[in-house]
Amino acid sequence: MFEARAAIFGEAGEAIRIEPVRLEAPRADEVLVRIVATGICHTDLLARDGHLPYRRPAVFGHEGSGIVEAVGAAVTGFAPGDPVVVTYRSCGACPNCLDARSAYCEDKRRLNFSGGRADGTSPVFRCDGTALAAAFFGQSSFAERVVVAARALVRLPSDVPVELMGPLGCGFQTGAGAVLNVLKPAPGSALAVIGAGAVGLAAVMAAKTAGAFPIVAVDRDAARLDLALELGASHAVMAEEGALDQIRAIAGRGGVDGAVECVGSAATVRLALEALRMGGTAAVTGAAAGTGDIPIPAATLLYGRTLRGVVQGDSNPPVFIPRLIDLWRQGRFPFDRLVRFFPFDEIEAAFAAAASGKVVKPILRMAVP
Ligand SMILES: [Zn+2]
Ligand SMILES: [Zn+2]
Repeated sequence: MFEARAAIFGEAGEAIRIEPVRLEAPRADEVLVRIVATGICHTDLLARDGHLPYRRPAVFGHEGSGIVEAVGAAVTGFAPGDPVVVTYRSCGACPNCLDARSAYCEDKRRLNFSGGRADGTSPVFRCDGTALAAAFFGQSSFAERVVVAARALVRLPSDVPVELMGPLGCGFQTGAGAVLNVLKPAPGSALAVIGAGAVGLAAVMAAKTAGAFPIVAVDRDAARLDLALELGASHAVMAEEGALDQIRAIAGRGGVDGAVECVGSAATVRLALEALRMGGTAAVTGAAAGTGDIPIPAATLLYGRTLRGVVQGDSNPPVFIPRLIDLWRQGRFPFDRLVRFFPFDEIEAAFAAAASGKVVKPILRMAVP
């Protein structure tokens, strides 16, 4: 057994409590990681508020980064002391995993959202011995230590700041991947990014690296639009009546080649689809369990448009995350500009900053040396 403190989420609406917990020793295919820092993603907010079905009490958090402390007997490729990003869990054996499309692992719901490992057990316990729902996105990283499958880890270069890298494991790979892995814009392609949060701004930066133009950012928040313009958007459009006409006017030829939807409301999905020119593709990253039905005008199909759901940016993490780190080193993917660090004990303030939009990407930093 290992010890750590973890943020425990009771029923929706209850305060988050940071308490001591115990972790099982890693099984043969697992790794014990000391979490250095962990981002807060929109899905953590949905989970906290009970919009995502999950057993409770639970430990959430799924943008962890840290240092390997112990490895299971069958683990190869990782050793104590290795800096890592923890990303989502996949089985590694289904056809999609074997095809490097692990975001669509056929076992992903059980491995990421069941509240435990594939066999139903949890590696995290209260000090009185009761199990906590954990392995959220395979990790549950609002904790000083996690026991995770080695398959969910991506090794970091030794010279990057570990505390900055966690959000590459979800939010940033989602937005960047929707552009670089899904839309794959040719230079000069017109793109719209709807929603300028962490995912949308990652999409904007990625679109710029790919040479897209124009890059039209759409949001309700003028400050977010200013940030989008600084990070690579060529145009900014307020999300209000008339936004569709503005996007079409900026892009010309009836609309954009590609749109990245990062909000998850029926209205924004429809906006993404209707903003497309003939044959364009809308990559929807924002739709979640609570989005409900999305009414789509049948006539839109006559335009040869594609509406494409995207999970984790179609990322194959061991390949894509190092690529994003390279772009960051080159100054072309400056995601560090979006983050603000909070001490782990200020998790409530960090959640509030994320919910209000004051901070694009809060990162909780653990105090364990
Ligand atoms: Zn996430
Ligand atoms: Zn799989």
